[in-house]
Amino acid sequence: MAQNTQNIDALMAEERTYPPDPEFAAQANAQAGFYDQDPDEFWEKEARERITWFTDFNALKQWDRPHARWYLGGRLNACYNCVDRHVENGLGDKVAYYWEGEPADERLTITYADLQSRVVKAANGFRSLGIGKGTKVAVYMGMIPESPVTLLALARLGAPFTFVFGGFSAQALGSRMVEMECEYLVTQDASNRRGKASPLKPIADEAMDMAPTVKHCVTVRRTGSDVTMKQGRDLWWHDVVDTQSDDPASCPCEPMDAEDMFFLMFSSGTTGRPKGIVHSTAGYLVGVATTHYYVFDIKPDTVYWCAADIGWITGHSYIVFGPLANATTSVIYEGTPDFPDKARWWEIIERYRVNVLYTAPTSIRTHMKWGAHHAEQHDLSSLKVLGSVGEPINPEAWLWYRDHIGAGRTPVVDTWWQTETGMIMVSPLPGLTTLKPGSATRPFPGVEAAVYDEQGKEIAPGEGAGYMVVKAPWPSMFRTLYGDDERFRETYWDKFPDAYLAGDSARVDADGDFWLMGRIDDVMNVSGHRLSTTEIESALVDHPDVAQAAVVSRYDATTGQAIVAYVTLKEGAEGSTEKLAELRDHVGTQIGPIAKPANLVFSDELPMTRSGKIMRRLLKDVAENRELGDTTTLADPSVVDELKQRSEN
Ligand code: ATP
Ligand code: MG
Repeated sequence: MAQNTQNIDALMAEERTYPPDPEFAAQANAQAGFYDQDPDEFWEKEARERITWFTDFNALKQWDRPHARWYLGGRLNACYNCVDRHVENGLGDKVAYYWEGEPADERLTITYADLQSRVVKAANGFRSLGIGKGTKVAVYMGMIPESPVTLLALARLGAPFTFVFGGFSAQALGSRMVEMECEYLVTQDASNRRGKASPLKPIADEAMDMAPTVKHCVTVRRTGSDVTMKQGRDLWWHDVVDTQSDDPASCPCEPMDAEDMFFLMFSSGTTGRPKGIVHSTAGYLVGVATTHYYVFDIKPDTVYWCAADIGWITGHSYIVFGPLANATTSVIYEGTPDFPDKARWWEIIERYRVNVLYTAPTSIRTHMKWGAHHAEQHDLSSLKVLGSVGEPINPEAWLWYRDHIGAGRTPVVDTWWQTETGMIMVSPLPGLTTLKPGSATRPFPGVEAAVYDEQGKEIAPGEGAGYMVVKAPWPSMFRTLYGDDERFRETYWDKFPDAYLAGDSARVDADGDFWLMGRIDDVMNVSGHRLSTTEIESALVDHPDVAQAAVVSRYDATTGQAIVAYVTLKEGAEGSTEKLAELRDHVGTQIGPIAKPANLVFSDELPMTRSGKIMRRLLKDVAENRELGDTTTLADPSVVDELKQRSEN
């Protein structure tokens, strides 16, 4: 085998550029000189500006590789920073969340004062059950107001939590509760999904059978579905919470140490067994508040919508803690984008005059597949910034997003980060950066990202691709893997003596802009050429009939590895033998004959994680006819069986 990243052949060169609009630039939060700031001074200044401390910190950071500590000696409370202080500062009437239920006409406007009242009641209710500082709690919920309320109430009490996607299996929830030794679980009867009630409590019941440490389960009644309540263990939210006091003085915010564990988030499991990623309190909050403010150019009157699920890191950082710390008005939508029809998102944007939309490439490609006419029915002129996260965004999807959603004028910020990093690490700043479709452009100030070769030497701009690394600690970095510091070291810190190994491959172009090229494990070696799956997928998506593409390699006796492509066509296009040849040729002309897929499979769906990422690991198992690996985080397991059958034909 050739060494792992002996420069990946970066074959496609995207050359379009979009300089910032001068009018936007003039009013932007980040102005000239922003990138010239000293990292330590920057993180100290932002910590004081964005966060209210009960006790000021006395040292900025301590770096005992691989363990970092930030804002030493500082004491604070995340709930106080996200809720109470805003009410104290006269923002009680400001809208915190516009909540939109999936059923039409079910809406709530929740002000910061309402949010405080709800959070205090919930915290008092939780406390009455015995939850306090240090009690570990699991949360398994959908996109209802009680979700952020629960997280904030737990933060208020100083109880570390792990939020598991409502949609993960009983196995996934159970194993996570066991791993964290959770004593409590908060859930709901069922959630609304595409017009149906999708059960949560019954799955939680099964999960609790595996997790004997759970003493009590609190259930929100959302859909009214039938559930079984186990005497002594299970309680209704309305019984526990509704009668409680909402006086903030009745349940003060617990002063937490800067380094106290805030929450644990299991990564999405795209590459194997999920990792329990530990985030601390102060560094995390400073990181997400700061990046949210600058990357999305948040103003006092901004209406912001991150259309992710609260159950993955994007939801924690950019639906709950970042926006609330900045006293932002956000939208939360409960359901799926195609209910009752495929224009639902655009209707929401029009209704609330949304200024910032933050979503994932997979959603953008799904909307592309459905067609731009859905968006055209609505007035989207309020949009000022569009964001993307989760996977590399193909230039075609980037351009479609900017043109059809952003009327050809809004900047698109492609934000690269991970559960591990807690906050956005590489991203354009909408008033400063010249954009390139498909490039995450530059590291955020105070983030020392780089690309290393196999020997751990930094690859100079324009000199090819290698390992994405970060050379210095940053405030919101994860502190360890829960209960497995050894795996923490091995996975992220052993490869290079002086940097954090992110696990992605990337290149920096001659202008210094970063291009993420997929995971290291996804790099292929075809006849001695190192190819990135992302580039071949981008070439496929560039074809007018293609909506989504996933590329993996399988063993091949002649070429070493052969390329297998799974393709979803746009609505109206037919998957024929001719189309197959046409797509192979398209890749041939876009990249080169070497990149033409050996096999191409048409499929209506691709296996996705709940957070909307393509599970290439499973596709590779299918391509190589192997037993399937861990499928607990798969959104819809039937997709893989279907693909297996198609691949055999
Ligand atoms: P696991 O680590 O358990 O396999 P995961 O890596 O999918 O799961 P996340 O932390 O949610 O879990 O995802 C982070 C990864 O998503 C990054 O390492 C990168 O591969 C990809 N990613 C996120 N944003 C971008 C982006 N803007 N451009 C390219 N890739 C991105
Ligand atoms: Mg990962």
